[in-house]
Amino acid sequence: MHWAERIARELIEKYPDRETYVCASGISPSGAVHIGNFREIITTYFVVKALERLGKKTRFIFSWDDFDRFRKVPKGIDRSYEQYIGMPYSEIPDPYGCHGSYAEHYEKAFEASLDAFGIEVEMIYQSKEYKSGRYNEYIKHALDCRCEIYDVLMGFKTQEPSQEERKAYYPVTVYCEQCGKDLTMIRDYDGCVLTYGCACGYEGVVTVLEASHIKLVWKVDWPMRWMVEDVVFEPGGRDHSDVGGSYMVSKEVVKRIFNHLGPEYAAYEFIGIKGGHGKMSSSVGNIITPEELLKVYTPELILYMFAKYKPSAAFNIGLDGDVVRHYTEYERYRERYDKGLLTDEDLSYTMTLSEVAKESPCLPSYSQVAGVLPLVNFDILLLQDVLKKTGLCYEKEAIRIISKRVEHWISTWCPEKMIRLNGEQDWAYYDTLSDLQKKWLSDFCQLIRKSTDENMDILMSDIYAICHHEDKKTMRAHQKSLFTMIYLLTINATSGPRLPLLIKAIGHKRLLGLLSFDHE
Ligand SMILES: [Zn+2]
Repeated sequence: MHWAERIARELIEKYPDRETYVCASGISPSGAVHIGNFREIITTYFVVKALERLGKKTRFIFSWDDFDRFRKVPKGIDRSYEQYIGMPYSEIPDPYGCHGSYAEHYEKAFEASLDAFGIEVEMIYQSKEYKSGRYNEYIKHALDCRCEIYDVLMGFKTQEPSQEERKAYYPVTVYCEQCGKDLTMIRDYDGCVLTYGCACGYEGVVTVLEASHIKLVWKVDWPMRWMVEDVVFEPGGRDHSDVGGSYMVSKEVVKRIFNHLGPEYAAYEFIGIKGGHGKMSSSVGNIITPEELLKVYTPELILYMFAKYKPSAAFNIGLDGDVVRHYTEYERYRERYDKGLLTDEDLSYTMTLSEVAKESPCLPSYSQVAGVLPLVNFDILLLQDVLKKTGLCYEKEAIRIISKRVEHWISTWCPEKMIRLNGEQDWAYYDTLSDLQKKWLSDFCQLIRKSTDENMDILMSDIYAICHHEDKKTMRAHQKSLFTMIYLLTINATSGPRLPLLIKAIGHKRLLGLLSFDHE
Protein backbone atom coordinates (compact mmCIF):
# COMPACT_ATOMS: atom_id res chain seq x y z
CA MET A 1 0.00 0.00 0.00
CA HIS A 2 1.25 3.47 -0.82
CA TRP A 3 2.49 5.35 2.26
CA ALA A 4 -0.05 8.18 1.86
CA GLU A 5 -2.94 5.75 1.66
CA ARG A 6 -1.65 3.86 4.68
CA ILE A 7 -1.52 7.09 6.74
CA ALA A 8 -5.02 8.03 5.53
CA ARG A 9 -6.42 4.62 6.51
CA GLU A 10 -4.79 4.85 9.94
CA LEU A 11 -6.35 8.29 10.46
CA ILE A 12 -9.79 6.98 9.53
CA GLU A 13 -9.36 4.04 11.86
CA LYS A 14 -8.27 6.29 14.71
CA TYR A 15 -10.93 8.95 14.12
CA PRO A 16 -13.81 7.01 12.53
CA ASP A 17 -16.48 9.61 13.33
CA ARG A 18 -14.83 12.72 12.02
CA GLU A 19 -16.86 14.74 9.60
CA THR A 20 -13.81 16.70 8.47
CA TYR A 21 -10.18 15.62 8.69
CA VAL A 22 -8.00 18.64 9.35
CA CYS A 23 -4.47 18.16 8.05
CA ALA A 24 -1.89 20.82 8.77
CA SER A 25 1.57 21.95 7.82
CA GLY A 26 3.56 25.07 8.45
CA ILE A 27 6.76 26.89 7.65
CA SER A 28 8.48 29.94 9.05
CA PRO A 29 9.19 32.51 6.31
CA SER A 30 12.75 33.10 7.53
CA GLY A 31 13.95 33.07 3.95
CA ALA A 32 13.11 31.49 0.62
CA VAL A 33 11.22 28.24 1.12
CA HIS A 34 13.48 25.52 -0.25
CA ILE A 35 12.56 22.08 -1.48
CA GLY A 36 13.52 20.57 1.90
CA ASN A 37 10.73 22.62 3.54
CA PHE A 38 8.55 21.86 0.55
CA ARG A 39 8.38 18.31 1.78
CA GLU A 40 6.41 19.65 4.75
CA ILE A 41 3.48 20.77 2.64
CA ILE A 42 3.75 18.07 0.02
CA THR A 43 3.56 15.29 2.61
CA THR A 44 0.33 16.73 3.97
CA TYR A 45 -0.97 17.30 0.45
CA PHE A 46 -0.59 13.60 -0.42
CA VAL A 47 -2.30 12.50 2.79
CA VAL A 48 -5.17 14.92 2.07
CA LYS A 49 -5.50 13.48 -1.44
CA ALA A 50 -5.47 9.94 -0.06
CA LEU A 51 -8.21 10.81 2.46
CA GLU A 52 -10.31 12.32 -0.31
CA ARG A 53 -9.83 9.22 -2.44
CA LEU A 54 -11.26 7.28 0.47
CA GLY A 55 -14.31 9.51 0.37
CA LYS A 56 -13.48 11.72 3.34
CA LYS A 57 -13.99 15.44 3.68
CA THR A 58 -10.76 17.30 4.45
CA ARG A 59 -9.51 20.70 5.47
CA PHE A 60 -5.94 21.34 4.38
CA ILE A 61 -4.33 24.19 6.29
CA PHE A 62 -0.93 25.74 6.05
CA SER A 63 0.48 28.02 8.75
CA TRP A 64 2.93 30.75 7.99
CA ASP A 65 4.85 31.16 11.23
CA ASP A 66 5.42 34.81 10.47
CA PHE A 67 4.93 36.00 14.06
CA ASP A 68 8.16 34.18 14.96
CA ARG A 69 11.16 36.31 15.80
CA PHE A 70 13.74 37.26 13.20
CA ARG A 71 16.80 35.44 14.54
CA LYS A 72 19.66 36.32 12.28
CA VAL A 73 20.39 38.08 9.05
CA PRO A 74 20.63 35.48 6.26
CA LYS A 75 23.43 35.51 3.76
CA GLY A 76 22.67 37.89 0.92
CA ILE A 77 20.57 40.28 3.03
CA ASP A 78 22.02 43.67 3.97
CA ARG A 79 23.77 43.72 7.36
CA SER A 80 21.65 46.72 8.33
CA TYR A 81 18.89 44.17 8.95
CA GLU A 82 20.59 43.41 12.26
CA GLN A 83 18.50 46.31 13.60
CA TYR A 84 15.40 44.10 13.18
CA ILE A 85 16.63 41.07 15.10
CA GLY A 86 14.04 40.23 17.75
CA MET A 87 11.06 41.53 15.78
CA PRO A 88 8.46 39.28 14.10
CA TYR A 89 9.01 38.53 10.39
CA SER A 90 5.70 40.17 9.62
CA GLU A 91 6.82 43.53 11.02
CA ILE A 92 10.11 43.86 9.13
CA PRO A 93 10.39 45.64 5.75
CA ASP A 94 10.87 43.55 2.61
CA PRO A 95 14.62 43.55 1.84
CA TYR A 96 13.75 43.50 -1.87
CA GLY A 97 11.26 46.35 -1.57
CA CYS A 98 8.49 44.60 -3.49
CA HIS A 99 6.14 43.36 -0.75
CA GLY A 100 4.57 44.65 2.43
CA SER A 101 6.98 42.83 4.73
CA TYR A 102 9.93 40.48 4.96
CA ALA A 103 7.53 37.61 5.60
CA GLU A 104 5.22 38.45 2.74
CA HIS A 105 8.09 38.52 0.25
CA TYR A 106 8.90 34.84 0.83
CA GLU A 107 5.28 33.84 1.40
CA LYS A 108 4.11 35.12 -1.96
CA ALA A 109 6.97 33.49 -3.89
CA PHE A 110 6.17 30.11 -2.36
CA GLU A 111 2.42 30.50 -2.79
CA ALA A 112 2.97 31.22 -6.48
CA SER A 113 4.93 28.01 -6.94
CA LEU A 114 2.15 26.03 -5.21
CA ASP A 115 -0.19 27.13 -8.01
CA ALA A 116 2.05 25.38 -10.53
CA PHE A 117 1.54 22.12 -8.64
CA GLY A 118 -2.21 22.60 -8.46
CA ILE A 119 -1.99 22.54 -4.66
CA GLU A 120 -4.87 24.38 -3.07
CA VAL A 121 -4.42 25.06 0.60
CA GLU A 122 -5.95 27.36 3.17
CA MET A 123 -3.24 29.77 4.26
CA ILE A 124 -3.18 30.89 7.88
CA TYR A 125 -0.90 33.79 8.71
CA GLN A 126 0.03 33.49 12.36
CA SER A 127 0.87 37.20 12.62
CA LYS A 128 -2.73 38.00 11.67
CA GLU A 129 -4.18 35.40 14.05
CA TYR A 130 -2.08 36.58 16.97
CA LYS A 131 -2.68 40.26 16.33
CA SER A 132 -6.41 39.72 15.93
CA GLY A 133 -6.67 38.42 19.47
CA ARG A 134 -8.02 35.04 18.35
CA TYR A 135 -5.61 33.19 20.64
CA ASN A 136 -5.82 35.49 23.65
CA GLU A 137 -7.90 33.21 25.85
CA TYR A 138 -5.38 30.41 25.26
CA ILE A 139 -2.47 32.73 25.98
CA LYS A 140 -4.19 33.58 29.25
CA HIS A 141 -4.78 29.89 29.91
CA ALA A 142 -1.11 29.11 29.26
CA LEU A 143 -0.04 31.94 31.58
CA ASP A 144 -2.42 30.64 34.23
CA CYS A 145 -0.91 27.16 33.84
CA ARG A 146 2.66 28.36 33.48
CA CYS A 147 4.00 26.25 36.35
CA GLU A 148 2.43 23.06 34.94
CA ILE A 149 3.91 23.92 31.55
CA TYR A 150 7.29 24.37 33.18
CA ASP A 151 6.93 20.92 34.73
CA VAL A 152 6.03 19.33 31.39
CA LEU A 153 8.99 20.95 29.68
CA MET A 154 11.39 19.96 32.47
CA GLY A 155 10.18 16.38 32.16
CA PHE A 156 12.04 16.24 28.85
CA LYS A 157 15.23 17.82 30.15
CA THR A 158 18.15 16.28 31.97
CA GLN A 159 18.77 19.25 34.26
CA GLU A 160 17.00 19.46 37.62
CA PRO A 161 14.02 21.80 37.87
CA SER A 162 14.30 24.64 40.34
CA GLN A 163 11.59 26.44 42.32
CA GLU A 164 13.06 29.80 41.41
CA GLU A 165 13.05 29.06 37.70
CA ARG A 166 9.55 27.66 37.96
CA LYS A 167 8.25 30.87 39.55
CA ALA A 168 9.93 33.02 36.91
CA TYR A 169 8.81 30.94 33.94
CA TYR A 170 6.41 32.43 31.39
CA PRO A 171 5.53 30.43 28.24
CA VAL A 172 5.24 33.55 26.12
CA THR A 173 7.27 36.04 24.15
CA VAL A 174 6.24 39.66 24.59
CA TYR A 175 7.04 41.99 21.70
CA CYS A 176 7.69 45.43 23.13
CA GLU A 177 5.00 47.98 22.27
CA GLN A 178 7.63 50.69 21.86
CA CYS A 179 10.50 49.08 19.90
CA GLY A 180 8.73 45.99 18.54
CA LYS A 181 11.42 43.58 19.75
CA ASP A 182 11.22 40.65 22.08
CA LEU A 183 14.07 41.80 24.32
CA THR A 184 11.55 41.94 27.13
CA MET A 185 11.40 40.58 30.63
CA ILE A 186 8.13 39.81 32.36
CA ARG A 187 7.94 41.48 35.73
CA ASP A 188 4.60 40.16 36.91
CA TYR A 189 1.36 38.50 35.90
CA ASP A 190 -1.62 38.70 38.24
CA GLY A 191 -4.05 36.51 36.31
CA CYS A 192 -5.23 39.41 34.20
CA VAL A 193 -2.59 42.08 33.74
CA LEU A 194 0.96 41.43 32.64
CA THR A 195 3.78 43.89 33.24
CA TYR A 196 7.11 43.79 31.44
CA GLY A 197 10.26 45.76 30.95
CA CYS A 198 12.19 46.02 27.68
CA ALA A 199 15.90 46.46 26.90
CA CYS A 200 14.92 49.73 25.19
CA GLY A 201 13.83 51.13 28.54
CA TYR A 202 10.10 50.81 28.03
CA GLU A 203 7.96 49.53 30.88
CA GLY A 204 4.69 48.03 29.69
CA VAL A 205 1.42 47.13 31.34
CA VAL A 206 -0.99 45.05 29.33
CA THR A 207 -4.28 43.26 29.85
CA VAL A 208 -3.63 39.80 28.39
CA LEU A 209 -7.10 39.32 26.90
CA GLU A 210 -6.69 42.59 24.99
CA ALA A 211 -3.08 42.12 23.91
CA SER A 212 -1.91 41.88 20.28
CA HIS A 213 1.82 41.45 20.79
CA ILE A 214 2.15 38.40 23.03
CA LYS A 215 3.08 35.12 21.39
CA LEU A 216 3.23 31.67 22.92
CA VAL A 217 6.63 29.97 22.84
CA TRP A 218 6.93 27.38 20.07
CA LYS A 219 6.34 24.27 22.17
CA VAL A 220 3.10 25.74 23.52
CA ASP A 221 2.12 27.60 20.35
CA TRP A 222 2.17 24.46 18.20
CA PRO A 223 -0.05 22.35 20.53
CA MET A 224 -2.40 25.30 21.09
CA ARG A 225 -2.98 25.46 17.32
CA TRP A 226 -3.55 21.71 17.13
CA MET A 227 -6.37 22.19 19.57
CA VAL A 228 -7.79 25.36 18.00
CA GLU A 229 -7.90 23.86 14.49
CA ASP A 230 -8.57 20.30 15.69
CA VAL A 231 -5.71 18.91 13.63
CA VAL A 232 -5.54 15.13 13.03
CA PHE A 233 -2.39 15.01 10.94
CA GLU A 234 0.75 17.09 10.68
CA PRO A 235 4.22 16.12 9.48
CA GLY A 236 7.45 17.53 10.85
CA GLY A 237 11.10 17.72 9.92
CA ARG A 238 13.55 15.28 11.41
CA ASP A 239 14.87 18.02 13.73
CA HIS A 240 11.44 18.24 15.41
CA SER A 241 11.07 14.50 15.68
CA ASP A 242 13.74 13.32 18.12
CA VAL A 243 13.05 12.08 21.62
CA GLY A 244 12.46 15.27 23.59
CA GLY A 245 12.02 17.20 20.34
CA SER A 246 9.23 19.66 19.58
CA TYR A 247 6.69 17.07 18.57
CA MET A 248 6.99 14.90 21.67
CA VAL A 249 6.93 17.89 24.00
CA SER A 250 4.02 19.51 22.16
CA LYS A 251 2.04 16.30 22.28
CA GLU A 252 2.43 16.23 26.05
CA VAL A 253 1.55 19.92 26.35
CA VAL A 254 -1.61 19.57 24.27
CA LYS A 255 -2.75 16.68 26.43
CA ARG A 256 -1.92 18.07 29.87
CA ILE A 257 -2.47 21.79 29.33
CA PHE A 258 -5.12 21.96 26.62
CA ASN A 259 -6.85 18.66 27.38
CA HIS A 260 -6.74 17.63 23.74
CA LEU A 261 -5.33 14.73 21.77
CA GLY A 262 -2.33 15.56 19.55
CA PRO A 263 -2.38 14.75 15.84
CA GLU A 264 -0.84 11.81 14.06
CA TYR A 265 2.60 12.65 12.92
CA ALA A 266 4.98 11.75 10.14
CA ALA A 267 8.62 12.70 10.42
CA TYR A 268 10.15 13.54 7.08
CA GLU A 269 13.75 13.33 6.07
CA PHE A 270 15.92 15.89 4.36
CA ILE A 271 16.22 16.17 0.63
CA GLY A 272 19.56 16.54 -1.04
CA ILE A 273 20.44 18.20 -4.28
CA LYS A 274 22.92 16.12 -6.19
CA GLY A 275 25.91 18.31 -6.72
CA GLY A 276 24.78 20.56 -3.85
CA HIS A 277 26.39 20.80 -0.44
CA GLY A 278 24.63 18.78 2.22
CA LYS A 279 21.53 19.85 4.07
CA MET A 280 19.76 22.85 2.65
CA SER A 281 19.15 25.79 4.89
CA SER A 282 17.65 29.09 3.89
CA SER A 283 19.99 31.01 6.17
CA VAL A 284 23.11 29.56 4.55
CA GLY A 285 22.19 30.39 1.00
CA ASN A 286 22.87 27.12 -0.87
CA ILE A 287 19.20 26.49 -1.38
CA ILE A 288 17.04 25.26 -4.20
CA THR A 289 13.49 26.58 -4.18
CA PRO A 290 10.51 24.81 -5.74
CA GLU A 291 10.51 27.72 -8.19
CA GLU A 292 14.02 26.85 -9.36
CA LEU A 293 13.21 23.16 -9.49
CA LEU A 294 10.22 23.95 -11.71
CA LYS A 295 12.59 25.53 -14.20
CA VAL A 296 14.19 22.10 -14.70
CA TYR A 297 11.40 19.63 -13.94
CA THR A 298 7.71 19.57 -14.77
CA PRO A 299 5.44 19.89 -11.71
CA GLU A 300 4.19 16.32 -12.33
CA LEU A 301 7.69 14.90 -12.20
CA ILE A 302 8.52 16.79 -9.00
CA LEU A 303 5.34 15.49 -7.37
CA TYR A 304 6.22 12.01 -8.63
CA MET A 305 9.64 12.13 -6.96
CA PHE A 306 8.17 13.27 -3.64
CA ALA A 307 5.30 10.78 -3.77
CA LYS A 308 7.56 7.87 -4.61
CA TYR A 309 9.56 8.04 -1.39
CA LYS A 310 7.90 7.62 1.96
CA PRO A 311 8.55 10.64 4.19
CA SER A 312 11.11 8.81 6.33
CA ALA A 313 13.34 8.16 3.32
CA ALA A 314 15.92 10.76 2.38
CA PHE A 315 16.49 11.18 -1.32
CA ASN A 316 18.44 13.27 -3.75
CA ILE A 317 17.13 15.29 -6.62
CA GLY A 318 19.73 15.58 -9.33
CA LEU A 319 20.27 18.73 -11.30
CA ASP A 320 23.22 17.22 -13.13
CA GLY A 321 23.09 14.47 -15.74
CA ASP A 322 20.54 12.69 -13.52
CA VAL A 323 17.84 15.01 -14.86
CA VAL A 324 17.62 12.90 -18.01
CA ARG A 325 17.47 9.71 -15.94
CA HIS A 326 14.63 11.09 -13.75
CA TYR A 327 12.66 12.15 -16.82
CA THR A 328 13.20 8.88 -18.66
CA GLU A 329 12.01 6.85 -15.67
CA TYR A 330 8.96 9.03 -15.20
CA GLU A 331 8.07 9.04 -18.91
CA ARG A 332 8.24 5.24 -19.02
CA TYR A 333 5.84 4.82 -16.06
CA ARG A 334 3.64 7.65 -17.24
CA GLU A 335 3.12 5.98 -20.62
CA ARG A 336 2.24 2.67 -19.01
CA TYR A 337 -0.01 4.37 -16.48
CA ASP A 338 -1.91 6.26 -19.18
CA LYS A 339 -2.44 3.02 -21.07
CA GLY A 340 -3.60 1.27 -17.92
CA LEU A 341 -0.64 -1.11 -18.05
CA LEU A 342 1.07 -0.13 -14.81
CA THR A 343 0.52 -3.15 -12.61
CA ASP A 344 2.60 -2.11 -9.59
CA GLU A 345 0.07 -0.75 -7.09
CA ASP A 346 2.38 1.67 -5.29
CA LEU A 347 3.72 3.09 -8.52
CA SER A 348 0.24 3.46 -9.89
CA TYR A 349 -0.82 5.35 -6.74
CA THR A 350 2.29 7.51 -7.05
CA MET A 351 1.30 8.42 -10.61
CA THR A 352 -2.20 9.32 -9.45
CA LEU A 353 -0.83 11.57 -6.70
CA SER A 354 1.46 13.33 -9.17
CA GLU A 355 -1.30 14.40 -11.54
CA VAL A 356 -1.66 18.17 -11.70
CA ALA A 357 -4.45 18.62 -14.23
CA LYS A 358 -7.05 16.18 -15.47
CA GLU A 359 -6.04 16.77 -19.07
CA SER A 360 -2.37 17.26 -19.74
CA PRO A 361 -0.82 17.47 -23.20
CA CYS A 362 1.33 14.67 -24.54
CA LEU A 363 4.90 15.86 -24.04
CA PRO A 364 7.97 14.99 -26.11
CA SER A 365 10.64 12.96 -24.38
CA TYR A 366 13.11 15.07 -22.45
CA SER A 367 16.16 13.17 -23.66
CA GLN A 368 15.14 13.62 -27.30
CA VAL A 369 14.59 17.34 -26.83
CA ALA A 370 17.87 17.68 -24.91
CA GLY A 371 19.68 15.91 -27.73
CA VAL A 372 18.30 18.01 -30.55
CA LEU A 373 17.52 21.46 -29.13
CA PRO A 374 21.13 22.75 -29.04
CA LEU A 375 21.59 21.58 -32.65
CA VAL A 376 18.68 23.75 -33.80
CA ASN A 377 19.85 26.77 -31.78
CA PHE A 378 17.07 26.32 -29.21
CA ASP A 379 14.50 27.18 -31.84
CA ILE A 380 11.20 25.54 -30.86
CA LEU A 381 9.69 25.71 -34.34
CA LEU A 382 12.74 24.07 -35.90
CA LEU A 383 12.59 21.40 -33.20
CA GLN A 384 8.91 20.83 -33.89
CA ASP A 385 9.75 20.39 -37.55
CA VAL A 386 12.60 17.94 -36.87
CA LEU A 387 10.38 15.86 -34.58
CA LYS A 388 7.60 15.91 -37.15
CA LYS A 389 9.92 14.68 -39.90
CA THR A 390 10.74 11.66 -37.77
CA GLY A 391 7.08 10.93 -37.20
CA LEU A 392 6.67 12.62 -33.80
CA CYS A 393 3.93 15.22 -33.80
CA TYR A 394 3.52 17.51 -30.79
CA GLU A 395 1.71 20.76 -30.13
CA LYS A 396 3.98 23.77 -29.99
CA GLU A 397 2.95 24.39 -26.38
CA ALA A 398 3.88 20.82 -25.41
CA ILE A 399 7.30 21.26 -27.00
CA ARG A 400 7.70 24.60 -25.23
CA ILE A 401 7.02 23.03 -21.82
CA ILE A 402 9.98 20.69 -22.22
CA SER A 403 12.22 22.94 -24.33
CA LYS A 404 12.33 25.82 -21.88
CA ARG A 405 13.34 23.35 -19.16
CA VAL A 406 16.03 21.77 -21.31
CA GLU A 407 17.41 25.19 -22.15
CA HIS A 408 17.51 26.30 -18.51
CA TRP A 409 19.05 23.02 -17.43
CA ILE A 410 21.83 23.12 -20.02
CA SER A 411 22.66 26.78 -19.46
CA THR A 412 22.45 26.72 -15.65
CA TRP A 413 23.22 23.21 -14.46
CA CYS A 414 24.69 21.07 -17.17
CA PRO A 415 26.75 23.05 -19.71
CA GLU A 416 28.46 19.83 -20.84
CA LYS A 417 25.19 18.92 -22.57
CA MET A 418 25.62 21.93 -24.83
CA ILE A 419 26.35 19.85 -27.92
CA ARG A 420 27.59 21.69 -30.99
CA LEU A 421 27.92 20.73 -34.58
CA ASN A 422 31.57 20.32 -35.60
CA GLY A 423 32.83 23.30 -37.57
CA GLU A 424 34.85 21.23 -40.04
CA GLN A 425 35.61 17.67 -41.08
CA ASP A 426 37.69 15.68 -38.60
CA TRP A 427 40.38 14.27 -40.88
CA ALA A 428 42.62 13.26 -38.00
CA TYR A 429 39.92 10.95 -36.67
CA TYR A 430 38.94 9.74 -40.14
CA ASP A 431 42.54 8.64 -40.75
CA THR A 432 42.37 6.31 -37.74
CA LEU A 433 39.47 4.34 -39.25
CA SER A 434 39.91 0.95 -40.93
CA ASP A 435 39.10 0.49 -44.62
CA LEU A 436 35.94 -1.37 -43.64
CA GLN A 437 34.81 1.47 -41.39
CA LYS A 438 35.55 3.98 -44.14
CA LYS A 439 33.41 1.92 -46.49
CA TRP A 440 30.47 1.95 -44.01
CA LEU A 441 30.73 5.71 -43.81
CA SER A 442 30.82 6.04 -47.56
CA ASP A 443 27.77 3.76 -47.89
CA PHE A 444 25.99 5.84 -45.26
CA CYS A 445 26.62 9.03 -47.23
CA GLN A 446 25.29 7.33 -50.37
CA LEU A 447 22.05 6.51 -48.56
CA ILE A 448 21.70 10.06 -47.29
CA ARG A 449 22.25 11.46 -50.80
CA LYS A 450 19.51 9.22 -52.19
CA SER A 451 17.01 9.63 -49.38
CA THR A 452 14.07 12.01 -49.28
CA ASP A 453 12.09 13.34 -46.35
CA GLU A 454 9.36 10.75 -46.51
CA ASN A 455 11.13 7.46 -45.88
CA MET A 456 12.80 7.67 -42.47
CA ASP A 457 11.92 4.08 -41.52
CA ILE A 458 13.22 2.67 -44.75
CA LEU A 459 16.31 4.83 -44.45
CA MET A 460 16.97 3.48 -40.95
CA SER A 461 16.66 -0.15 -42.03
CA ASP A 462 19.00 0.60 -44.96
CA ILE A 463 21.48 2.17 -42.51
CA TYR A 464 21.36 -0.91 -40.30
CA ALA A 465 21.91 -3.06 -43.38
CA ILE A 466 25.20 -1.31 -44.16
CA CYS A 467 26.89 -3.40 -41.48
CA HIS A 468 25.23 -6.65 -42.46
CA HIS A 469 27.05 -9.68 -41.12
CA GLU A 470 26.22 -13.38 -40.76
CA ASP A 471 26.93 -13.25 -37.05
CA LYS A 472 24.29 -11.15 -35.26
CA LYS A 473 26.61 -10.20 -32.43
CA THR A 474 29.30 -8.99 -34.81
CA MET A 475 26.71 -7.11 -36.80
CA ARG A 476 25.44 -5.28 -33.73
CA ALA A 477 29.00 -4.37 -32.74
CA HIS A 478 29.61 -3.01 -36.24
CA GLN A 479 26.39 -1.02 -36.18
CA LYS A 480 27.36 0.47 -32.86
CA SER A 481 30.77 1.34 -34.22
CA LEU A 482 29.24 3.09 -37.25
CA PHE A 483 26.89 5.12 -35.06
CA THR A 484 29.75 6.16 -32.78
CA MET A 485 31.73 7.28 -35.83
CA ILE A 486 28.79 9.37 -37.01
CA TYR A 487 28.38 11.05 -33.60
CA LEU A 488 32.09 11.75 -33.29
CA LEU A 489 32.36 13.21 -36.78
CA THR A 490 29.27 15.42 -36.39
CA ILE A 491 28.98 16.50 -32.75
CA ASN A 492 32.30 15.26 -31.35
CA ALA A 493 30.57 12.97 -28.83
CA THR A 494 30.39 9.19 -28.60
CA SER A 495 26.60 9.29 -28.33
CA GLY A 496 23.82 11.69 -29.19
CA PRO A 497 20.19 11.96 -30.20
CA ARG A 498 18.64 9.04 -32.04
CA LEU A 499 20.03 8.91 -35.58
CA PRO A 500 16.83 9.98 -37.44
CA LEU A 501 16.64 13.05 -35.17
CA LEU A 502 20.33 13.81 -35.72
CA ILE A 503 19.94 13.52 -39.48
CA LYS A 504 16.89 15.78 -39.54
CA ALA A 505 18.35 18.29 -37.08
CA ILE A 506 21.58 18.70 -39.02
CA GLY A 507 20.08 18.43 -42.48
CA HIS A 508 21.48 16.42 -45.36
CA LYS A 509 23.79 19.09 -46.71
CA ARG A 510 25.63 19.84 -43.48
CA LEU A 511 25.65 16.14 -42.61
CA LEU A 512 27.35 15.19 -45.87
CA GLY A 513 29.74 18.12 -45.47
CA LEU A 514 31.02 16.52 -42.26
CA LEU A 515 30.81 12.82 -43.19
CA SER A 516 31.72 12.59 -46.83
CA PHE A 517 35.46 12.08 -47.16
CA ASP A 518 35.34 10.34 -50.55
CA HIS A 519 36.37 13.18 -52.83
CA GLU A 520 38.97 15.57 -51.52
ZN1 LIG B 1 11.40 47.96 23.60
